[in-house]
Amino acid sequence: MITIEHVSRSFGGTRALADVSLEIGRGQIFGVVGQSGAGKSTLLRTVNALERPDSGSVTVDGVQVSHLSGQELRAARHGIGMVFQHFNLVGNRTVAQNVEFALEAVGRGRGDRAAEAREMLDLVGLAARADAYPAQLSGGQRQRVGIARALASRPRVLLSDEATSALDPDTTRQILALLRRLSGDLGLTIMLITHEMAVVKQICDAAALLEHGSIVERGTLTDLIRTP
Ligand code: ADP
Ligand code: ADP
Repeated sequence: MITIEHVSRSFGGTRALADVSLEIGRGQIFGVVGQSGAGKSTLLRTVNALERPDSGSVTVDGVQVSHLSGQELRAARHGIGMVFQHFNLVGNRTVAQNVEFALEAVGRGRGDRAAEAREMLDLVGLAARADAYPAQLSGGQRQRVGIARALASRPRVLLSDEATSALDPDTTRQILALLRRLSGDLGLTIMLITHEMAVVKQICDAAALLEHGSIVERGTLTDLIRTP
């Protein structure tokens, strides 16, 4: 579902990614683990083409996103949802309106948005808080809104950038359980980046360890746990 082939990316003298190759299967939950500065965000950003590799290619659902631009790139991005560490909600809009914004951004007609937003909020168990403002919600609830918003374009792929790093351990477990359930129910492929091995252990089918822009270890969860 996601194929990363020989991707390199530098910023000035800093080599953020050095010849990274990865294959993530359809429906898989794949973790990219590493310390701060390892290149995780840069790698994730090449998948939704916010970042273009200097060399190599990235293919998502059969489309080579690393070489697209304009309308084709926008269309490809609709197939990819993003979940962020700090939720990125719009503070002066309600929960429902935050999701409706995302529906508007992918071209849904005004008449359909309210019902669709409701459907997305149902998926994350937050329909009861549709009229609340982000500041009235707990961190875990805010991230549920972030996930509902990411699902608005009905993506095949979800990218998660430290989605639970701002949450306490209990809430982290609940959000990861939600992502796992959504992956199963919607057939989503999830690529998540984290600096916590505990997150990988709870949710991922497989993972890769990134150090200084290179993959130094990869495998299924069982392989990684066996590694001394
Ligand atoms: P991680 O997500 O693992 O913390 P990043 O991908 O954010 O790592 O960063 C990898 C390296 O690339 C770091 O050394 C970082 O400073 C550098 N880097 C990332 N983005 C930029 C940028 N836009 N400009 C300059 N340097 C960058
Ligand atoms: P706040 O008052 O919560 O800080 P902002 O308007 O400053 O709200 O926006 C916060 C974040 O929400 C920003 O990172 C912005 O990129 C993001 N954002 C703005 N509009 C939208 C939208 N339509 N859909 C999703 N995210 C958005």
